Formats: sequence, C-alpha cells, structure tokens
Amino acid sequence: MTFTCIFCEIIAGRQTAQKIFQDEYATAFHDLFPRTPVHILIVPNQHIDSVNQLTDAEKILTGHLILVAQKIAAEKGLTNSGYRLVINTGDNAGQSVHHLHLHLLGGKHMPMMGD
Ligand code: AMP
Repeated sequence: MTFTCIFCEIIAGRQTAQKIFQDEYATAFHDLFPRTPVHILIVPNQHIDSVNQLTDAEKILTGHLILVAQKIAAEKGLTNSGYRLVINTGDNAGQSVHHLHLHLLGGKHMPMMGD
C-alpha cells in the first residue's frame, strides 16, 4: 500500500488548495475548515511527520516556518491585533494530518487554550 500525504500532494500541486505562498522550503495555504477569520497552514515542503521528527538539521527550516508565518500575519493585517501559531503534535493534541504544519490563527479574540 502506498502512503499518500495530502499536504505533500498540495505542495506538489497535485491536490487543489488556496495557496498563498511557496518558496524552496515552505508552502502556505488556507485551511479547508477555517476555525478563525484567518486560518492559514504553513508547512515545510519536505515531509516531516511532526515536531517529534525534527532534528538539529532542521533548525533553519523551523525558524523559516515561523518567519513565513510572521510575514503572512503582517500581510493579513494581524501584526497589531495579534495572532496565534499552533503546532498540534500527536493524538492528545488532535493532530489529524501527519505532515508538520503551523496553524496561523487570527482575526478574532481567542480564549486561552488547554481545555
Ligand atoms: P491538525 O488537526 O493540527 O493536524 O490540522 C490539520 C488541518 O488541516 C485541519 O485544520 C484541517 O482542516 C486541515 N486540512 C485537512 N485537509 C486539508 C486540505 N485538503 N486543504 C487544506 N486544509 C486541510
């Protein structure tokens, strides 16, 4: 059985998504089921299952993902109002797609997380 990763398919352009950014290392696209007025996913182009699989070799890539999120937040006018970056990791966090991704959430006030 071949493993198909939906985010790898989006990155490669074989699956449609509302892409808003792509460079050599990362891709960003709108979440299919937005939870907030702005809900964008930032993903590494290279398949990495989750934070658990990151190593020192991905130090620069990891920082790049956050900087891409910061720039998109600015483009969306969220710099001053604020936004949240979320990385769900594993079952208890509700990770449903096993390709590392940052959720960029903004456009409304968000209560504290942890419930
Ligand atoms: P997580 O639950 O943290 O793994 O987040 C996965 C996110 O991917 C969810 O918010 C989904 O709504 C989103 N998602 C799943 N499939 C797609 C897709 N084809 N295009 C865009 N977003 C997706």
